[in-house]
Amino acid sequence: MQERNISANNFEQCQKCSICETVCPVMANNPAYAGPKRSGPDGERYRLKNGIFFEDSLKYCLNCKRCEVACPSGVRVADLIQQARIDYGRKLPKLRDTMLASTDQVGPLASAFAPIANFSLGLAPVKGVMHLALGVDRHRTLPKYASETFVRWFKKNAEDKQAQYSKHISYYHGCYANYNYPQLGKDFVAVMNAFGYGVHLIEGERCCGVAKIANGMIEAATRDARTNVDLFRESVKAGREIVTVSTTCTMTLLEEYPTLLKVGNDQVRDHIHLVERFLWKAIASGEVKPVWKEDWKARAAYHCPCHQERLGLGIFTMELMKMIPGMELTELESNCCGIAGTYGFKKENYKVSQAIGKPLFDDIAAAAPEFVVCECETCKWQIEMSTGVPVKNPVSILADALDLDKTAILNKPTK
Ligand code: SF4
Ligand code: SF4
Repeated sequence: MQERNISANNFEQCQKCSICETVCPVMANNPAYAGPKRSGPDGERYRLKNGIFFEDSLKYCLNCKRCEVACPSGVRVADLIQQARIDYGRKLPKLRDTMLASTDQVGPLASAFAPIANFSLGLAPVKGVMHLALGVDRHRTLPKYASETFVRWFKKNAEDKQAQYSKHISYYHGCYANYNYPQLGKDFVAVMNAFGYGVHLIEGERCCGVAKIANGMIEAATRDARTNVDLFRESVKAGREIVTVSTTCTMTLLEEYPTLLKVGNDQVRDHIHLVERFLWKAIASGEVKPVWKEDWKARAAYHCPCHQERLGLGIFTMELMKMIPGMELTELESNCCGIAGTYGFKKENYKVSQAIGKPLFDDIAAAAPEFVVCECETCKWQIEMSTGVPVKNPVSILADALDLDKTAILNKPTK
């Protein structure tokens, strides 16, 4: 029998109520998947006796963690499944999975050749080859790369202006803001500066590792996690809280490091903040004061990403958005969009991914908003591709709705 670290494994708390099965989006759409109860706590009893009881169908779990949110006994169902995949699943990832997961190796290369990469990846024959040879579904619109990364822009245009502020934070920008959508990083800097916070990069930050965990690249994910935790520790020592923008990165840094990667984050955990809660608290307490544009108006719908629900932080985004006087906000029903990072890009998952997302797509169509508010970049790709409705990150909405100049005057640095 294989020796396993089961310190965070609480499968014995399962009382077999089957509630987790009622919320699992994969079980409802893929008959090949046995569901959270059998794949999680039930299967664990057998796997601990002998690893031959590991079922390959665990690969269909998209780690949305909706089962964990629903479980009345607090069983870490999704973690049990991910841990079993790590311990018993395929040890050598496929070429496709390595490519999809290696965001911080592929990112610099794709950014350096962004016009060519973006043009080629949009061509039907290239998509066809990727579908057949690599297993990346041809229906997917692949994310575009930016020619100038966020980090390069920041060093050229913003870094030397940060010393003037009296309050300082470290920004964990993640791969998406750096390589795919630097505007999000620019909006973050604009909003934080307007509220009087100097922004610092975490020099040498690594990918959070979520895609590597999902694709079986555990050693690489663990190396990255150790580097990130060391860097966060330095930031805390320097008196700077760490502010994040991506929901899934945040969940990985907070939850998956100690449980799945066994990288302790006790010393830094309470210093990592998702930006929406950070700003909501700062505004609600009067620590910072917003000045909103008088003529700004929007009718939007909020989609709470699954990992945001797991963190219990969606309420802060809703409340933050409701602070904007011209915002008319509808909260969409709680549903998974179906993409789950790299999951929906794989051709074997494409149909299930779209079937999972359909209730959400229908809700968006019925609400007919000008745009969807969402903190997660992969939800954004899925919703925009499947509904044609634009998706905006709350930070970008703030950058647009705030009168940044007047806000900056009101929150003037006191140094
Ligand atoms: S919801 Fe929790 S307690 Fe109920 S069957 Fe699922 S894991 Fe067990
Ligand atoms: S994490 Fe999501 S897909 Fe996996 S078992 Fe739980 S609810 Fe189902």
